[in-house]
Amino acid sequence: MDIIPYGKHEIEKEDIQAVVDTLQSDFLTQGPKITEFEENFAAYTGADFAIAVSNGTAALHLCAIALGVKAGVKVLTSPITFVASANCILYAGGEVDFVDIDPHSYLIDLHKLENKLSKAKPGEYSGIIPIDFAGYPVNLEELKNIAKKYNLWILEDACHAPGGAFKDSMNRYQYCGNGNYSDLAIFSFHPVKHIATGEGGMITTNNKDLYEKLLSLRTHGIIKHTDLLEDYHGGWYYEMQNLGYNYRLSDIQASLGISQLRKIHKNIKRRREIAEVYNNGLRSLNITLPIVAEGNQHAYHLYIIQTKERKELYDYLRANNIFTQVHYIPVHMQPYYRRKGWKIGDLPSAEDYYSRCLSLPMYPSLTANEQDYIIEKIKAFFHE
Ligand SMILES: *Cc1c(COP(=O)(O)O)cnc(C)c1O
Repeated sequence: MDIIPYGKHEIEKEDIQAVVDTLQSDFLTQGPKITEFEENFAAYTGADFAIAVSNGTAALHLCAIALGVKAGVKVLTSPITFVASANCILYAGGEVDFVDIDPHSYLIDLHKLENKLSKAKPGEYSGIIPIDFAGYPVNLEELKNIAKKYNLWILEDACHAPGGAFKDSMNRYQYCGNGNYSDLAIFSFHPVKHIATGEGGMITTNNKDLYEKLLSLRTHGIIKHTDLLEDYHGGWYYEMQNLGYNYRLSDIQASLGISQLRKIHKNIKRRREIAEVYNNGLRSLNITLPIVAEGNQHAYHLYIIQTKERKELYDYLRANNIFTQVHYIPVHMQPYYRRKGWKIGDLPSAEDYYSRCLSLPMYPSLTANEQDYIIEKIKAFFHE
């Protein structure tokens, strides 16, 4: 058996053609493919606006700035995420605080959040960054109720979850990144995620002011064609009104994104089939499988199991060419964060989860044969 990774992109003929067409067009960047990708992606999530950026981390950074993070501003997030979800607050000069996870959903624990906020000084925290971890949606309606009470903005890190959804109290599906409960949401198009553009990211929102601010921040804080100009000297005139960045996506990448987005329904369906096969194949073993509560739609960026023999299983599968992965080392356990004062023991549910979690191969092009082989090897490890 060839090496089976935990995640993998899929580039097909039409994806290649889309890139070639752009290479032969007048625009390699700042052209029409960006707008087309943004419009298609906004329509897919159900949000009013989308802003394409160079990667998911750049998306987080710009959002932190647009939401007013600066020195003295404190923001909450979950320790079970990629480091970028927390780092973006530090980039903007703010301070990060963590709320422990729910041990069953692995998402930020809303009871612990409410408890923490009720004991905090009024106005101590300005915002929260929930993560739709592994593709499992945070109930943003419940989070919004807490956020309203404590006057917090919400920046949803939906990198794992295009296509994920929860059912709200009116029994309607609320898709990740649709902007109905969060101020801003962000996505990544790194090749292990649902859509691959090499590097790439997207911000979605229903807030027009934030949308316009982000468009300008993405390109140096420059404004050209609006009534917001403070002066006007002629056709060449532009103003840099804020300190922005060059966080643009290229048209080459956007054309790949447009092509990849066309396949997302099919690919999420395939991810759900793979999850079902794992669920059935592994049910009899003494391991914890992912939960999906009634009404939730899992986007299955990751399929995570928990076992006390995690290291042994990881090594055994690796020896059999199955390359699983661990998502994630809790952010507060990273040396950089420990130097800021975080200690082992501070977030016990996250640390406990980390000691046992393992992400099995999950990607649309995983074949039935490969998956049978993975299940067979896991069973062999547990002597079944
Ligand atoms: C991948 C990822 C990011 C960062 O995205 P990049 O495009 O790699 O910068 C941020 N948050 C989460 C949860 C991610 O999985």
